[in-house]
Amino acid sequence: MTAPAALPGQIRDDIPPVVVDAVTVRFGAITALNAVSFTVVPGTIHAIIGPNGAGKSTMFNVLSGVYKAAEGSVLFGEHRLDQMRPYKIADIGVARAFQNIALSATQSVAENLMLGRHHLTRAGFLASGLRLPKATSEGRKHGARVAEIAEFMELGNKLHTPVGVLSYGDQKRVEVARALCTEPRLLLLDEPVAGMNSEETARMADAILEIRSALGISVVLVEHDMGMVMGIADQVTVLDFGRLIADGTPAQVQADPEVIRAYLGSGDDDLASIGEDADAPPDDDSPGAPRADSPRVTTEESSP
Ligand code: ADP
Ligand code: MG
Repeated sequence: MTAPAALPGQIRDDIPPVVVDAVTVRFGAITALNAVSFTVVPGTIHAIIGPNGAGKSTMFNVLSGVYKAAEGSVLFGEHRLDQMRPYKIADIGVARAFQNIALSATQSVAENLMLGRHHLTRAGFLASGLRLPKATSEGRKHGARVAEIAEFMELGNKLHTPVGVLSYGDQKRVEVARALCTEPRLLLLDEPVAGMNSEETARMADAILEIRSALGISVVLVEHDMGMVMGIADQVTVLDFGRLIADGTPAQVQADPEVIRAYLGSGDDDLASIGEDADAPPDDDSPGAPRADSPRVTTEESSP
């Protein structure tokens, strides 16, 4: 998979911006997000970063309809993302991939990806179970698209492999592929490289660049891995203690004194390297190193 450096030539015209306007979220006395505003330009990779406790996960949950904002709004075209139920966001072309893998371990890659197409199947799962003629022809169409997306995510030769036996990196790519199977216009990624070694991280970074350039959709990612973000993001929003402290290109935020101060003050060694070489690989690549985030594969259905 080649990683194009430039923006795609043909940005789709059916992708609205995401306009986050003065979003505030409180948990009791804690203000997790304090009047945060930023805009995701269509067809770009937009990263949300910040030290631990900055409000990244809270923002991700607002964008995906899981948390309601106490104040402010999130618009995706004419839709209020912040007022939408999580299971409804697929209908307006928003898909999310979870930090903790939410796939069915015993089912094959193809079966897991097919779950991502549920909301697109007119026949629905009941008719599929009864093998009605309409369901079978529709099933073939969706099967072909699933195979295409699996190929795109370099999982083409693993379509019939149970997800549970795949490597951690492959499972994370299945999780992203499942989100792509909903045919999103906006893809939300929660720490897509958490717990990955440097090779897996580089493959995922390539895949995200390829998603932007080949599909032309918007990608919002919440991320802890600084080198990865600086290498692929078009725009970076930096949060600290629930406040937006910087919003700009990777080069702009990297040079921002307040960003450097926030990261140095966080005592987080990984993040403290923000002012250093952005292309340096992450330092968690020793093969025996424990996973920061081991895959949690469940047998529960993962609704699209
Ligand atoms: P990040 O993902 O950047 O580490 P979070 O969004 O998880 O930050 O948290 C932001 C702040 O909100 C933290 O102070 C955290 O303790 C608090 N917080 C997050 N989720 C909850 C919750 N469900 N209940 C109470 N406090 C929360
Ligand atoms: Mg978090």
